[in-house]
Amino acid sequence: SAKRDRTGVVLWTAGDTTTHRADLRQLTELRTGIRAGHLRLHYQPLYSAGSREINGAEALVRWQHPQRGMLPPGVFLPDAERSDVILELTDWVFAEAVHQTAVWHRAGHDVPVSVNLSPAYLAQERAVPTILALLELERLPARLLTVEVTETAVLTRPDQAAARLAEIRAAGIRVAIDDFGTGYTSLGLLPELPIDELKIDRSFVSRMHDSPARATIVHSVIAIARALDLTVVAEGVEDEPTALALAAAGADLLQGYHLDRPQPAEQLEAKLGQHPAG
Ligand code: C2E
Ligand code: CA
Ligand code: CA
Ligand code: CA
Repeated sequence: SAKRDRTGVVLWTAGDTTTHRADLRQLTELRTGIRAGHLRLHYQPLYSAGSREINGAEALVRWQHPQRGMLPPGVFLPDAERSDVILELTDWVFAEAVHQTAVWHRAGHDVPVSVNLSPAYLAQERAVPTILALLELERLPARLLTVEVTETAVLTRPDQAAARLAEIRAAGIRVAIDDFGTGYTSLGLLPELPIDELKIDRSFVSRMHDSPARATIVHSVIAIARALDLTVVAEGVEDEPTALALAAAGADLLQGYHLDRPQPAEQLEAKLGQHPAG
């Protein structure tokens, strides 16, 4: 169900199972900030595990707050996701990411860009037509866009979400399951899901080289992904031993502070077509 607060922000109520209290003032301020052009995207490169070349980037939103400075999504995204502000935020993120990817494409850099897709956004009838219209507007080949959805997003309304994701995929956009391993996807369901990519959550990846249990989980996920012909991305790679272990285990792409931080588009652009990292 939905209720509207005095400032006109619509809040979803999740059966009141949560004790979380939204910061309504900040939420209203965020909506004003989106309209005033205060959001920014930072891009964190994805590196090929073998060659250590840039082979993609994840778009991550920040709020350039006039008084508080550059705010990470953890500060404002949870509240936004409990309200209709997430819809406006996601519209902005897609428009900006698709535009930037198209600029790189026209400059001869084919960098596939991944965008995080909120469940509330995907639940809208207009979600897929809106994204397709953006690709057309920017003349961006669909293969250069990946949408990331979390396991929980897919599993709360499995049939609806799967149908939407199938539509997205049929258009040539790639679909990734984000934070894989933290949700409750039954492995039996995995072959049915319309997906291209698994992103192994950083809770398994970080320090896997000295935790046999985590290493076993990572190896299993990679084996399953191979069997299903899915691309495997390891996120949260924070040191070289982990990067080497992941490459040896057969991960396709590496993402993490050890390789590179999220950064403004201009900074990433300077590295395209340059030397490997790590
Ligand atoms: P995520 O999708 O799992 O994104 C990866 C997060 O891990 C990013 O945090 C990134 O900066 C951080 N990270 C990358 N490498 C490392 C590492 O080696 N070690 C550690 N400890 N962290 C690393 P960030 O940018 O703060 O984003 C947090 C979350 O906010 C994201 O997690 C995603 O769930 C959400 N988010 C970010 N941008 C958007 C967006 O545009 N839309 C939506 N719906 N969600 C977003
Ligand atoms: Ca993500
Ligand atoms: Ca993730
Ligand atoms: Ca995560």
